[in-house]
Amino acid sequence: MSSMIEVKQLQKSFGSLDVLKKITFDVKPGEVVAVIGPSGSGKSTMLRSLVHLEEVTGGSILIHGKPLVENGKYASNADIREITATMGMVFQHFNLFPHLSVRGNLELAPRTLKREGTQDIAAKSKELLSKVGLADKAEVYPSMLSGGQKQRVAIARALMLNPDILLFDEPTSALDPELTGEVLRVIRQLADENMTMIIVTHEMNFARDVADRVFFMDNGEIAESGTPEQIFGSPQLERTRTFLNQD
Ligand code: ADP
Ligand code: MG
Repeated sequence: MSSMIEVKQLQKSFGSLDVLKKITFDVKPGEVVAVIGPSGSGKSTMLRSLVHLEEVTGGSILIHGKPLVENGKYASNADIREITATMGMVFQHFNLFPHLSVRGNLELAPRTLKREGTQDIAAKSKELLSKVGLADKAEVYPSMLSGGQKQRVAIARALMLNPDILLFDEPTSALDPELTGEVLRVIRQLADENMTMIIVTHEMNFARDVADRVFFMDNGEIAESGTPEQIFGSPQLERTRTFLNQD
């Protein structure tokens, strides 16, 4: 089957700091990839590069076979917009607009893009808020919500543009432990619905449960990858074992 995401020899440096060192991987439709690894290993930079929040310094990213960047050369702005519009991203710190209601947060991007009518957009935001268990919070402002609720709003917002791919950057790291479950349940439901996802996470039990494949990133490389059984059950590298054995 053809790849949803194809990354080849991806390089990113900030000045003299090499943050991504020729990373190569692909993700198939419906696959869930969990990315684990120490702080500073390049996990966020890798995800952000896929949606063009970072410009890479070399290599290629193809989404649905279309080059976002090929051998370090970016597509046209119009093509970049079209390609990145097929992906949604959820951040650690939610990034909700504080001056907009929950519904306003969901509807802003689709209203701006004007691809669908106002009524369709309103129907979809209602449906997605129900899906994440927040049907009764549509008119509430983000400051009134718990962290877990905010993150569920952020996920619903990411779904408003019908992405084929969802990227999560430590979606539960800013939450109190008792609130992580409600967010992980929503992500698990998306996995059950065959959403293609890359999830950067410190929740090892969740990664083990929900991922088809696990990437262990260290020092700008995917040092080791495999099934959850392989990575958690019999990691090959000493540094993977060291990482998994801490705390
Ligand atoms: P992770 O998400 O695995 O913690 P990051 O991708 O955030 O790692 O960061 C990888 C490395 O890149 C770190 O050394 C970080 O300090 C550096 N870095 C990230 N963003 C920038 C930036 N905008 N400018 C300079 N260095 C950066
Ligand atoms: Mg990070």
